Amino acid sequence: MKLFAIFGNPVSHSLSPRMHNLAFEELGIQGAYIRYTLEDGTTLRDRFEALGLSGANITVPHKEVALQACDEIRGIAKDIRAINTIIKEDKKLIGYNTDAPGFLRALKNFTTPKSVLIIGAGGTARALSFALKSIAITPHLLNRSKGRLESFINQGFECFTPEDFSPRGYDLIINTTSAGLKDDSFPTDEKLLETLFSQAKSAMDVVYGQNTPFLQKAKSAGLEVQDGKAMLLNQGVIAFNLFHGNSLNEEKIEASMQRALTLSSSN
Ligand code: NDP
Repeated sequence: MKLFAIFGNPVSHSLSPRMHNLAFEELGIQGAYIRYTLEDGTTLRDRFEALGLSGANITVPHKEVALQACDEIRGIAKDIRAINTIIKEDKKLIGYNTDAPGFLRALKNFTTPKSVLIIGAGGTARALSFALKSIAITPHLLNRSKGRLESFINQGFECFTPEDFSPRGYDLIINTTSAGLKDDSFPTDEKLLETLFSQAKSAMDVVYGQNTPFLQKAKSAGLEVQDGKAMLLNQGVIAFNLFHGNSLNEEKIEASMQRALTLSSSN
């Protein structure tokens, strides 16, 4: 039986074990997927080998340091400089980022935007920025502080803090901050959001399973909205198929993982 794990800290909230284990069961594959609290991200490779894993997912806060655990990085992860999936190929560990393609699949639920504003400048904002760039949309970024915007500026993205931002019309506004996850806060000034929403068509929050103040306000402004569940689902489907040499039927994986998410929200 092949063993897989998700590494993070904290990781107890992660829905990935349910998604992957139900997919194993329903697709008739001998496999198991565990969660592993990893405090020191630099020990990832040792843990991966000691557990005898065939593959792993990586979540906060280790997605960037996880690059160092790999022998090779493939695809868009090379631009993002963060990975959420590792696969053992012979004796090598190969790193991928499935958040980016997972987000692009979720984006298909919306009218295709021509212009996008991303609020936040963390790892998720990096994945989404490069995902959008890969489909010829260069997003603008708005973050509460300047520090993390530097790397985006160096890679050619137009970036703002609230102090130097003049609202303009964007088709899609995405919240990649955790504002609203555990409190009632907005990711940026409430009045600024109202102005942005009055000119937008759609809004997405990467936080999942919660009607955040950001989403509530977007809905009241009449926008099409979605939380981060479709992105979570799709990154999981893509990772599961990568774990199995991209040889499986993705519709079947998706159906199982969708069922796992429904089970999760009902208990
Ligand atoms: P990071 O810690 O890397 O980045 C967080 C960013 O949000 C920073 O730019 C930070 O600003 C900003 N921020 C944090 N709190 C606030 C706040 N209260 N108000 C305004 N700005 C804030 O986080 P990640 O990018 O790794 O993750 C962000 C969220 O995305 C998490 O909630 C995570 O669960 C979710 N996520 C969802 C996924 C999905 O599949 N749906 C996949 C991956 C992540 P500053 O630079 O000033 O500190």
